[in-house]
Amino acid sequence: MIEVEKLSKRYEGRPVLEGINAVFSPGEVTALVGPSGGGKSTLLRCLNGLESFDGGLVRVGPDTLAPGDVRAQGEKVRRIRRRVGFVFQQWHLFAHRTALGNVTEAPMHVKGVGRQEANERGRALLAKVGLSHREDAYPSELSGGEQQRVAIARALAMEPEVLLMDEPTSALDPERVGALIDLLEQLLADGLTLVAVTHEMRFAYELASRVLVLHGGHIIEEGPPARVLANPHHERTRAFLGLGR
Ligand code: ATP
Ligand code: MG
Repeated sequence: MIEVEKLSKRYEGRPVLEGINAVFSPGEVTALVGPSGGGKSTLLRCLNGLESFDGGLVRVGPDTLAPGDVRAQGEKVRRIRRRVGFVFQQWHLFAHRTALGNVTEAPMHVKGVGRQEANERGRALLAKVGLSHREDAYPSELSGGEQQRVAIARALAMEPEVLLMDEPTSALDPERVGALIDLLEQLLADGLTLVAVTHEMRFAYELASRVLVLHGGHIIEEGPPARVLANPHHERTRAFLGLGR
């Protein structure tokens, strides 16, 4: 569970997030949509202590992040990052590690899982994302979609309570989007909280319980995907979805 209260964030004095209030509950899938530059990635990074903010608070389970906590990099921030997994928009794989090495790195070095157990679980995760045959490949030897799937397996290897995904389907073909939806559905049944930035309407329709539309640092609209995506109330959402006026 993540709760966000009056979150605000500026870059070089320019507001990027202004007074964001939101609750992300276990088993819930939130699709975060909105025009480029609207603050989606920034909001996601604030939710797991990757980005400092200027006002408000972010509560992750029993821990509360306030402005300044992220810069201080204390134990609380580390605890939150362990519980909240992140799949980056640009994947950010470890270039000098194989696919399997990418997936086992954090369980071994952050959680202290033994190599053999980490390898077994890592192989099972790579199988789930359809990459068993590529476990020894380095990121530079993998296609974009394969790298994206390694990044997803790497995040899942930490068994996060909350998973934040920034455009998790941007490099996947339609069949892989379907496979990812199936995999995430299994995890959601176990109480995972999922927040995904997405432009993939199938992902939003099939998986999301609600859609949040972020524009100019504000949540301008929220509701079930069928309503927000088919019949948006806000003129800016209509324009963004290409629905005209
Ligand atoms: P996209 O859909 O293109 O990924 P986004 O909604 O994820 O966009 P953000 O990356 O959150 O948008 O950026 C929000 C705003 O903050 C943009 O105007 C961006 O230029 C600005 N911004 C992001 N990161 C920085 C930074 N490190 N320094 C200064 N400005 C930044
Ligand atoms: Mg972004």
